Amino acid sequence: MNTLVRIQVICEDEEKGRKALKQAFDVFRKIDHLTNRFPEGELATSSPGDVLNINGSAGLKPVKVSVDTVRIIQRSQYYARLTGGAFDITIGPIMDNWGFGKGIQYVPADEEISRALSLVDYRKVEADPGKGTVFLPEPGMSLDLGGVAKGYAMDEAVKALREAGMKHALINAGGCVYALGTRPDGEPWRVGIQDPRSNGDIVAILSLKDSAAVTSGDYQRYFEQEGVRYHHIIDPSTGKQARDLIQTTVVAESATDADILSTALFVLGPRRGMSFVEDLPGTGAVLIGPDKLVSVTAGLIDQLTFTGNGGYQIVG
Ligand code: ADP
Ligand code: MG
Repeated sequence: MNTLVRIQVICEDEEKGRKALKQAFDVFRKIDHLTNRFPEGELATSSPGDVLNINGSAGLKPVKVSVDTVRIIQRSQYYARLTGGAFDITIGPIMDNWGFGKGIQYVPADEEISRALSLVDYRKVEADPGKGTVFLPEPGMSLDLGGVAKGYAMDEAVKALREAGMKHALINAGGCVYALGTRPDGEPWRVGIQDPRSNGDIVAILSLKDSAAVTSGDYQRYFEQEGVRYHHIIDPSTGKQARDLIQTTVVAESATDADILSTALFVLGPRRGMSFVEDLPGTGAVLIGPDKLVSVTAGLIDQLTFTGNGGYQIVG
């Protein structure tokens, strides 16, 4: 997943804690293998995972996949429909155009983008949960689960920690955080929301208990060409960077949902994003625009403390 995964558990039995940690890390490794688009490192030597198989069989034949892969795809498709395709896991060809994942990063020509865009459409994915198969009907189509895999892995890792008896834990996987239970002193976990324009500083502190907070930003993966920043969150309606926001944070019980939604809201922008997420029960969001204006959903205000740093202004 190209990120550092940090898991903290607090329990009285060290051996039990270590075992729980190992199980949680194993989950991340498993989901990484299933969802990776490129064979690299130790993956290159092991058998290809589901996404590599699905993409390799595009236009040819349905591929038998694991239950996890079917679940990730189904949840992604659910939100793809709800957001009118702002979240679209068939974004693979466009990511390749821009060179995210592999290859050289450069600004592709408009013709390249429109050619790739003709292969991007979540409605074409044929997932059959009964048979456990997935089929991309057109050659050249490819899945990219980069906007959801970390969140899903997080939920499964949390499940493993709970099953191992852990009551207090904090997981952080590159902008994707889960607070299991409270801190040992009974207080909620506190998690900083990074300042999108000042690395190492924080804009606000979130209080979390048994929930996930996932942040997407235009600073996580990008390249610059002629002074313009080209980042890795793409609006599937244009094939180009979504630019109405610079950072989104979503809080929800499910890290899978929060991960998908952080990417989706980034694409939807402040106006459509806020009206969409305000209607989703149990889901909060903090959206930051390029003008440093911050929108917060009503239900999240009580859990947030702004630091006042960086010149950000809360609207609404
Ligand atoms: P991060 O990977 O930094 O945590 P995100 O969760 O926002 O950030 O995911 C961004 C990744 O999602 C991209 O690297 C790409 O793999 C994928 N992606 C980009 N745009 C979209 C989109 N519109 N819909 C679905 N996935 C996307
Ligand atoms: Mg995401």
